[in-house]
Amino acid sequence: MPTTSLSLSLDRLRAGGETFMEEISREHYLAFSGLKPQAELQPIYARHAAVLGDDALAMVLEQFRGSAEGSEERRSARLLLEWLAEARASRELAELDEREIAWESGAVIRRADGSQVPYQRAAIDIANAIDRAERLSLDAARAALVKAELAPMKQERLERDRDLMQSLDLAGGYVPTFEALSGVPVRPLVEQCRGFLRDTQAMWDEVFPEFVRRGLGIEPGEATRSDALALLRAREFDAHFPAAAMEESIRRQVGEMGADPAAGGRVRFDTGERAGKRPRAFCAPVRVPDEVYLVLRPHGGQTDYNTFLHELGHALHFANMRADHPFEFRWLGDNSVTECYAMLFDHLMQDRGWLLRYTGLGKSNVERFLRAAGFEELHFLRRYSGKIIYEEQLYDGGVPWGALPDLYVDTLTSATGFRYHAADAFVDVDARFYAARYLRAWQLQALVTRTLVERFDEDWWRNPRAGPWIVGELFAEGQRELAQEQATRVAGAELSFAPLVRSIERMLG
Ligand SMILES: [Zn+2]
Repeated sequence: MPTTSLSLSLDRLRAGGETFMEEISREHYLAFSGLKPQAELQPIYARHAAVLGDDALAMVLEQFRGSAEGSEERRSARLLLEWLAEARASRELAELDEREIAWESGAVIRRADGSQVPYQRAAIDIANAIDRAERLSLDAARAALVKAELAPMKQERLERDRDLMQSLDLAGGYVPTFEALSGVPVRPLVEQCRGFLRDTQAMWDEVFPEFVRRGLGIEPGEATRSDALALLRAREFDAHFPAAAMEESIRRQVGEMGADPAAGGRVRFDTGERAGKRPRAFCAPVRVPDEVYLVLRPHGGQTDYNTFLHELGHALHFANMRADHPFEFRWLGDNSVTECYAMLFDHLMQDRGWLLRYTGLGKSNVERFLRAAGFEELHFLRRYSGKIIYEEQLYDGGVPWGALPDLYVDTLTSATGFRYHAADAFVDVDARFYAARYLRAWQLQALVTRTLVERFDEDWWRNPRAGPWIVGELFAEGQRELAQEQATRVAGAELSFAPLVRSIERMLG
């Protein structure tokens, strides 16, 4: 006889899971938008203890092991199992997270000259520091504090998270367990990233010295990660991206491609000023697809446009999902897919025609802007490739913890050309291979864009037939499919870096 408790069935778990997720998401929305002083998550976990309980896990594990590979039962069970495993681990680690959050909000960097800077301000101050000696000394003081206090906490969390996932006993080791749960082939992706770094090395060797010399006034061999922050902070074009015009022009564009930017009122734009509201735009799907918040405080500038487009992509995805899809296809699944739609929108900032039509950039600036965008894109892809190569080894367990900081510095420095700090080896880590979701989103986005151009021409973003197709063929499916399944269905192609390399080559001219 199965060990499943009589009171629990998959359908009850789906219903309870959805209510739990809605309450967590609403709490985040209220806290991050300034409507509530802080998120109170513990009472929600307590109310829904059964959803994340041992019986639920046993039932889903049984369904997972008992269903045929490739069946829809297996797909649903895998999504529910991944979610339960991660949510249970997060609940176990909540205490460590609270300790970290408390540390981050109170920590102070003390510099050699006696001055003090709050830890949370450091990244912004480093990026904004015009004087290089100032930038480097602040970063050195930051790294010393991180090494002494934050890195040990982060290391403990990574170790415990790894042990918790492995204790599911699904496959030997963390990486195969993650692959089995997520459907994301990490090891083949790492190989693709090694290939991408090799294939773009010559191009990087050509543009890296040029941008470092011109943007920072230093020799390429001296450049550090803190210099990269300053270089990418460049605000040269910000005047052409005014805050006042942002929401209106982007909503106009979505309308011109035949889609409703508010998805029939299901996307709610929370754009007012409010004390306690996070400065960065975010999307909070509170009920999917019926109640999705896009929260922002428009500042204007290139980064703001980018973030707004990215979050709008997420919001339109959630708000257009089929309501009759089960919980797991609307709330769970491979986040490479929703990140792909977010990137489909933020990559409009790399489209010449779009920039000329919807921003104030103008013909005289657009070529220089695109060249800088090509440099940035190549930098980010090389950085993320380096990250996943390093993080695979971190989670794999083959390298002792003590040797990881040197491995981190070597891997990231050789991928990007900027010298990294050993202190950041456990801090600059995307937990549970989220970097892999981004990399696959990047690849899928390039294929989706290619498909849109083939079907709806270069300016698909204002073709009134494109929006309905995107909504019906892509958004409606939620996250039922893995990124590689969607690539096959939509573009008839495999996920790869090739189309991204071509688009970077075009931008760099
Ligand atoms: Zn995103």
